[in-house]
Amino acid sequence: MTNADPALIDDLVAANRILYDQGVVDGFGHVSGRHDQNPERFLLARSMAPGLVTAADIMEFDLAGDPIDPQGRTPYLERFIHSEIYKAYPAVQAVVHSHSPAVIPFGVVGTPLKPIYHMGSFLGLGVPVFEIREAGGPATDMLIRSPELGEALAKSLGSSAVALLRGHGNVVVGASVQEVVFRAVYTEINARLQAEALRIGQGQVVFLSDAEAMASMTTNQGQITRPWELWKAKALAAGK
Ligand code: MN
Repeated sequence: MTNADPALIDDLVAANRILYDQGVVDGFGHVSGRHDQNPERFLLARSMAPGLVTAADIMEFDLAGDPIDPQGRTPYLERFIHSEIYKAYPAVQAVVHSHSPAVIPFGVVGTPLKPIYHMGSFLGLGVPVFEIREAGGPATDMLIRSPELGEALAKSLGSSAVALLRGHGNVVVGASVQEVVFRAVYTEINARLQAEALRIGQGQVVFLSDAEAMASMTTNQGQITRPWELWKAKALAAGK
């Protein structure tokens, strides 16, 4: 068992359900939160589909990615995405990893993911693309399955909110579980809208300026609980 705040566990369960209900994760993908009592620990579900996660599935890990009290539960292979990001960035309180479909194309072409509207303003912090061949060689299975690969991915994130994993998915960080869910959902929507705008505009698109992105990000900070409550009510009702 973990001594983490039960409210944090509840938020993580809700986050798993929301991300599934909103189409960010499917049978794969995960969301974690830093432990509220011990910054050297984090909480993440056992290896399972996010849409089915309950409080009993939430495990505690140290920053080496080792489970504290596994009780026979199997951890995700890619838990090192989380452990290495928490290690590298003390301000990060929550992490989402997904294969969010509309985002995938932006990891494999030269066109960067950028804020097309105010809800995607956090993308104005930049969206680096992590190339696993540089850290893992030419023949990995694409997974972040070691602390070394996690460290390389964490380094590529820098001060951004989102990094893409070429040919795999993306990682999103936030200062709370609510914020990281907000960002993960709007990263997917922004990607869909950006691809559509590029198509109908034949590549000519006006994006938010850096100043507009920063101003929108500040405004959105005060609005994060509004969609969270809506998404949570819908996702938890769907799961009953
Ligand atoms: Mn993955």
